[in-house]
Amino acid sequence: MTIVTKLQVPVYRNYIGGQWVDSSSKEQLESRNPATGEFISYAQKSTVQDVEAAIDSVYDAFQQSDWGYNPKRRYEALLGLAHKMEENLEHLARVLTMEQGKTIRESRMEIAGSIDTLKYFAGAARTVFGRSMQLEPNNFGIIVKEPIGVVGIISPWNWPALLMVRELAPALAAGNGVIVKPASLTPAISVEIFKLIAAVPEFAKGIVSIVTGPGRSIGAAMGKSKKIDMISFTGDTSTGKSIIELSTSNIKKLALELGGKSPNVVFADANLDKAVPLIGRSIFISAGQICMAGSRVLVHESIKDEVVSRLKAYAEHLNVGNGIHETSDMGPVISQSQLDLISEYCEIGRKEGTIITGGYRLTGEEFDKGFFFAPTIIDHLAANCRVVQEEIFGPVLAVQTFANDEEAIALANGTDFGLSAGVWTADLNRAMRMSKEIKAGTVWINTYNKNFPEAEFGGYKQSGLGRTRGVDGLMEYCETKHIHLEL
Ligand code: NAD
Repeated sequence: MTIVTKLQVPVYRNYIGGQWVDSSSKEQLESRNPATGEFISYAQKSTVQDVEAAIDSVYDAFQQSDWGYNPKRRYEALLGLAHKMEENLEHLARVLTMEQGKTIRESRMEIAGSIDTLKYFAGAARTVFGRSMQLEPNNFGIIVKEPIGVVGIISPWNWPALLMVRELAPALAAGNGVIVKPASLTPAISVEIFKLIAAVPEFAKGIVSIVTGPGRSIGAAMGKSKKIDMISFTGDTSTGKSIIELSTSNIKKLALELGGKSPNVVFADANLDKAVPLIGRSIFISAGQICMAGSRVLVHESIKDEVVSRLKAYAEHLNVGNGIHETSDMGPVISQSQLDLISEYCEIGRKEGTIITGGYRLTGEEFDKGFFFAPTIIDHLAANCRVVQEEIFGPVLAVQTFANDEEAIALANGTDFGLSAGVWTADLNRAMRMSKEIKAGTVWINTYNKNFPEAEFGGYKQSGLGRTRGVDGLMEYCETKHIHLEL
């Protein structure tokens, strides 16, 4: 539970063993509103000892409760949480906007997506079963799916509710015990969801914990821990690589959802009235701080000028402002350091190509206390430019041009990432060929950013390992055992 200080700013505690507890460090993380700079909450700056206590308590709950053997209980728990989140949707959306900065409309969408994910995996909890087969006369194989054990979930700050729930729901549905470490910039929304978990009696006591604090110490301790059987990590590719190194101690299972540099490929016959607003939205939603951001647009040379001029008009018409206002289309970025990083990339882009619009921090009365950046488009870029190759994680769109299908495929596949892509054309044969050739976990044809809990999501190349969502996403959290019976 939270306690309230004299300043009426909540202080969030860790939830371990079914109890709300303070960290042994007595230190706190501060959350500030990235639109206004105001303090909105404090959370525990936990220590390695706190994480170890959480791991032990989840392990005990997993061993001692019927959680791993009782799919109906898991179904009821996840559905119970979905209902609690529905009752609190507006409150959660407001906390999310105040802590993370995204617009209130995006926050409602994120919470609604989390609820949908919980409902899907609540049902899926009752489908975790294997198969049986006759292998020889009098010999039968029974393939069973079992929970892995104790799962550590390490989440990022950009979609902190959905990306935590996207892993928590299948991990629990499969019967595991879970410890969550949310990003240090967004503990409040994560603990608010745990307050609702604590109010659902069907969760086995202690089966799920949250410990807030810095990734470099407590996230790394989770990566190293021999008592954690699996780490599910969503975040930056470089952090993902360090998790791979840390996890060698007990060859723990890993699921990694990492960065992206996703292209929208626009052919001459595309319906631009539909394509341009969706491509614009794909990069400017959440101020570009989204793994599947359409951060590159590859345009056929014959329509390049028209597409760029329409995208420029789209970017310049966006109403950038405090996300809590219903009229804002794009909020601030999360922090001063993110703002500095985006500014640096724009300076690089200014040298590598031509800034068509934006490229600067927004200033003035409404903007000065927050971290607002202008929607930016950079043109005339070669394939090896840094702003084409590197994930900026801000509202910056890189434009590239192609002359034929082969060149479009080469450009689309020409980065280390492979998370998602969009293909825009009226020719379905070409669309299907492109979707086969593009090395990405999701290819949207004539749309973008459509995600469903039942459809798998994940990365090729350095965008990740394994899949989240869907049947494969559930199976990531299961062990497979062959039981052999000879009569
Ligand atoms: P990040 O890697 O900095 O942090 C992610 C989490 O890891 C945080 O909880 C952080 O505290 C923790 N962490 C940091 N260092 C750690 C360490 N050494 N050991 C263990 N844990 C550590 O990422 P971020 O800045 O929070 O998120 C942005 C990144 O996440 C972008 O690259 C984005 O593309 C990626 N992302 C990917 C997906 C996806 O589904 N593929 C979704 C959202 C975000």
